[in-house]
Amino acid sequence: MSAQLTPARRTADLEAMSSPSGVDVLVIGGGVTGAGIALDAASRGLRTAIVEMQDWGSGTSSRSSKLVHGGLRYLQMLDFSLVHEALTERDLLFSSLAPHLVKPVKFLYPLENRAWERAYVGAGITLYDALARIGGKARRALPIHRHLTHGGLLETFPDLKPDAAVGAIEYSDATVDDARLVLTLVRTAAQYGALAANRTQVVDMTTGALGNVTGAVVEDLETGERHTIRARHVINATGVWTERTESLSGAEGGLKVLASKGIHIVVPRERISGTTGLILQTEKSVLFVIPWSRYWIIGTTDTPYDFDPTHPVVTAQDIDYLLAHANDVLQRELTRDDIVGTWAGLRPLLQPGTKEGTSSSKASREHTVASPVPGLTEIAGGKLTTYRVMAKDAVDFALGDRAEALPSVTHVTPLWGAEGLEATERRMRLLADEHGWTDWQISHLLHRYGSGVADLVDQISARPDLAQPLRHAPAYLRAEIHYAATHEGVLHLEDVMLLRTRLDYETADAGRASSVEIAEIVGEVLGWDDERREAEIASWAARADAEDAAAREQSEEAAVAARAAVPDIAPMVAQHGAATA
Ligand SMILES: Cc1cc2nc3c(=O)[nH]c(=O)nc-3n(C[C@H](O)[C@H](O)[C@H](O)COP(=O)(O)OP(=O)(O)OC[C@H]3O[C@@H](n4cnc5c(N)ncnc54)[C@H](O)[C@@H]3O)c2cc1C
Repeated sequence: MSAQLTPARRTADLEAMSSPSGVDVLVIGGGVTGAGIALDAASRGLRTAIVEMQDWGSGTSSRSSKLVHGGLRYLQMLDFSLVHEALTERDLLFSSLAPHLVKPVKFLYPLENRAWERAYVGAGITLYDALARIGGKARRALPIHRHLTHGGLLETFPDLKPDAAVGAIEYSDATVDDARLVLTLVRTAAQYGALAANRTQVVDMTTGALGNVTGAVVEDLETGERHTIRARHVINATGVWTERTESLSGAEGGLKVLASKGIHIVVPRERISGTTGLILQTEKSVLFVIPWSRYWIIGTTDTPYDFDPTHPVVTAQDIDYLLAHANDVLQRELTRDDIVGTWAGLRPLLQPGTKEGTSSSKASREHTVASPVPGLTEIAGGKLTTYRVMAKDAVDFALGDRAEALPSVTHVTPLWGAEGLEATERRMRLLADEHGWTDWQISHLLHRYGSGVADLVDQISARPDLAQPLRHAPAYLRAEIHYAATHEGVLHLEDVMLLRTRLDYETADAGRASSVEIAEIVGEVLGWDDERREAEIASWAARADAEDAAAREQSEEAAVAARAAVPDIAPMVAQHGAATA
């Protein structure tokens, strides 16, 4: 099968998943957890379908800190097995499963003026490095930590206030473009035969005589048509929507998941002088200053969230909080004018225990798999980094005794673009000469597509104009937009602005200027007429205006109301009276 996602394939997949023979596994939710489950199930040879009510990765999975990490803070809680598991996953992704997507990044842990701190933190980070190596089968390992003196610290991070720390420990972790990871997982799953439909919402579940779940009713949000999908196993992987989704089964039991909001701000790379990231302790948790592409990402916050989960937004108060904490340690103070973009995401916070009548397996302290009713499996919690383990646990749980005969193979299944990466890296030199690409552009393309960059190059050979950068967003080639429309399942302009590129927060105008050229390229592939193109551009501008308006509000209520004033391009069906428009 091909990993190409197109509107035509989406329609065919929807038809195929609703055929009378049904599927073995229907995954609800196209975040990292659901996409990982679809890949796990499809690569075990199961007939698999995945549906997502927004675009792939639109939920929490495109709104994280983008770290593929063990989580130093779990060491403080002495949760060694959790850290070991996440570090093993980090190194597996970096070394073989997704070496194109996952990039190493160094962080400084600044030490304050306390003699014991260097020994204490040093021991913790030594353990962090050691846990990554225990039983490690990874082909490539990240560099181990090193101690820095005060002079070494300021040389590495000149913009740190000299009195902010007496020295530091430098350690390694990794970053990923979270939305790209999700898309790549969906494409890889599709390559192994998974049927996939974005903008498709589960609006009901079908049940048998004993109340067991037998499938789901989905609405194609592009056409309004409804389909019934028969499935031997339905897996609910809907993050902060878990309880809403489980209630569609009519079951009383299930997992309990709350939402906590975290935001990030983006500032240009040249605005802060430093060659590594920073991890800083705050009164509540930690604050990261992360080098990412041409930017710094600063985050995050942790506030309870009790509104509709579809469009969490950044408030003025959130921004002030991050600026204040970053400015505690930065010499050249950041102001609002330095911020080019922001985003907000919701952590799915798994609550202890399960609702009555639920069988469950507490697979890890971070995630739980449960079944409130036969036929329905649920998984929640965890993090981006451990998606593969979560996926394996969910499918094992759903299959029960059958799992032994059909074990997971995702630990040896590279994601789309990983195979042949070294050869492609070498070939890129020749292609760069041909097209006049800079080193930065080569690494940008390899990072996003890996060996799949060959598909892009084919398109450029046929249409040399595609080798040109976008006029108002020169970091991206026109070919990347064209390719998003031909291969990456784009249905709307906002899919490109938010998730295939990250122009939403990479440019101070949220990509408004480049949206016209992007809509032209996408519209040409998808057959949009002038009216449709204008509507897509207007919808994007209205969405960006609403997010700007929200970010001027102090309170969460007012910010949420400002965002809700703008309808979605493909409105979702309201669930349980909750406004999702
Ligand atoms: C601020 C923040 C920072 C983070 N940083 C990191 C980090 O650096 N590293 C890390 O490892 N983890 C991080 N995490 C955690 C990580 O992002 C999440 O654990 C993970 O993304 C959750 O993925 P998910 O697939 O379970 O949920 P989601 O990504 O939310 O996916 C659920 C999907 O289900 C869909 N859905 C809901 N209802 C339906 C329905 N009825 N029909 C069809 N589809 C439906 C939604 O649209 C959504 O896309 C962070 C989280 C936050 C909030």
